[in-house]
Amino acid sequence: MFEAAGEVTRYRSFESQGPKPGADMGFEIKRIGVIGAGQMGNGIAHVAALAGYEISLNDLSTERIQLGLATINGNMTRQVNKKAISEDERVGALGRIRAAENLDALADCDFVIEAATENEQVKRKIFQQLCPVLKPEAMLATNTSSISITRLAASTDRPEKFVGVHFMNPVPVMQLVELVRGIATDDGTFELAKGFVARLGKIPTVAEDFPAFIVNRILLPMINEAIYTLYEGVGSVDAIDTAMRLGANHPMGPLQLADFIGLDTCLSIMQVLYEGLADSKYRPCPLLVKYVEAGWLGRKTQRGFYDYRGEKPVPTR
Ligand code: NAD
Repeated sequence: MFEAAGEVTRYRSFESQGPKPGADMGFEIKRIGVIGAGQMGNGIAHVAALAGYEISLNDLSTERIQLGLATINGNMTRQVNKKAISEDERVGALGRIRAAENLDALADCDFVIEAATENEQVKRKIFQQLCPVLKPEAMLATNTSSISITRLAASTDRPEKFVGVHFMNPVPVMQLVELVRGIATDDGTFELAKGFVARLGKIPTVAEDFPAFIVNRILLPMINEAIYTLYEGVGSVDAIDTAMRLGANHPMGPLQLADFIGLDTCLSIMQVLYEGLADSKYRPCPLLVKYVEAGWLGRKTQRGFYDYRGEKPVPTR
């Protein structure tokens, strides 16, 4: 999957990265919990383990955790083949990731990053179950693409230790991480999150807590418009993607990108924009709704605007 999205990040060896963030503040992040082992969660576990953190990876079932671990192994092996990391780094990083079968297994984490399905009720329930288990000083983050950080923080027992840390997909490749403060996020938490992102070798950008932050506020309406263009018959899947690749110099067409993000995630983000900003320009395209209702969620289910079951992706319209 990395080839589709450009250069693989070259990792600095982890000894060269200096003390871990917070070491001078009396609170050091050593073990990180990652909730959700899907495409984002396994990517976050991947880069954090390579940076030297101990990881506890949680999902709804053992099978999903194992699938996440297998994806990490496959992606790291590809990095070894491309000489982005050494074989020793791959083995070391995998050795630092442990399967956490339930939320109780995150009790010893210093920092927990939630990367579960983009659904506010799912995330709130996770925080309600997780908070009583955590150490009082543990920090919390969400990788949400669009949901209010302030509102999610308010569903926890520690809104001042809660921050939005929004990675881009695929995590091992993409350099940017959006950092979002909730209204109650304290400076220490924000600084620790910044240090964590720097230690991963990524570049943070600060976004205010408005629906979908910066990247998705701009990107998703473009994707939604591409789906309207398809829905209204202005162009075929192939014509729309070719037009934007060659005409706007985008590395991927918008429909290809939608499949890559996941059509369920795209729809959730549009709904958050539509409801959060109360403007009809954000209404999700009915064709996007139809694909999600069909369970055609893009690459992760092997069908979306393209069918990925054969050797080459074939447009579905
Ligand atoms: P995904 O569907 O690949 O993975 C979500 C995972 O969460 C699944 O494995 C699911 O089993 C798990 N999950 C659901 N409920 C859970 C629970 N109660 N406890 C533990 N695990 C649970 O989705 P994804 O693309 O990895 O997205 C995850 C988060 O990251 C979302 O908030 C999404 O908005 C955000 N995000 C996605 C992208 C992207 O391009 N896909 C980019 C940035 C951020």
